[in-house]
Amino acid sequence: MKALLKAISSILFVAIATITIYPVLASETSEKYIESVETNLDGSYLEEDNPVYDLNIAVSARSIDFGRHQGFWHHSPIVLVRPFSFNPNWQTPINNAMSNWNTRNTPVAFGVGSASNNTVAAGSHTWNEYGVIYVSTSGTNITWFNIILNSRTISSSATNTGNFITSVMVHELGHVVGLRDNPTGVTVPTGSVMRFDRPRNSLVMPTAFDVASVNMLY
Ligand SMILES: [Zn+2]
Repeated sequence: MKALLKAISSILFVAIATITIYPVLASETSEKYIESVETNLDGSYLEEDNPVYDLNIAVSARSIDFGRHQGFWHHSPIVLVRPFSFNPNWQTPINNAMSNWNTRNTPVAFGVGSASNNTVAAGSHTWNEYGVIYVSTSGTNITWFNIILNSRTISSSATNTGNFITSVMVHELGHVVGLRDNPTGVTVPTGSVMRFDRPRNSLVMPTAFDVASVNMLY
């Protein structure tokens, strides 16, 4: 039955891929959310039954480590997002997330460009994640993405709101450059901004593990 479901989901994926739009691929969740019925929206879904996972084993010429990578990434290391403007309490932490990636030793550089189809938004949402990312892909390349931060859950959980916002944004940008979620329980010796159990109030920089993982793709 599982194989049958997988076959059906692969067919579904192919159908979806032809219009190059996916539903949520990966999300930044609260611990509570991981336990909820909608777990298939978080990293465990990618790990187990995501047809994207199977497809990209076949199509990718690269050596993908699926313990670190989700199998699709923004092929150009220069990543622009459409200009966005929030109040400084949000704008500065979001900008810091981009800067934090830029200052690490990778080819990746985030910036803004008015012609970009990539967007960043923040607002109060009823869903439980701190942030989500929607992506469109062509093969293993991310052609555009939308990141949405949830001010309701972030404000509710944060003790250092600025750092918390930066940590969530750094995580979502990690998905842009190919990193997968590392849910609680996965052994990541040096820590990772992709871990769900990281201290979001203080961990705002991509770790050595994250940097090494990105540099496997670029
Ligand atoms: Zn995630």
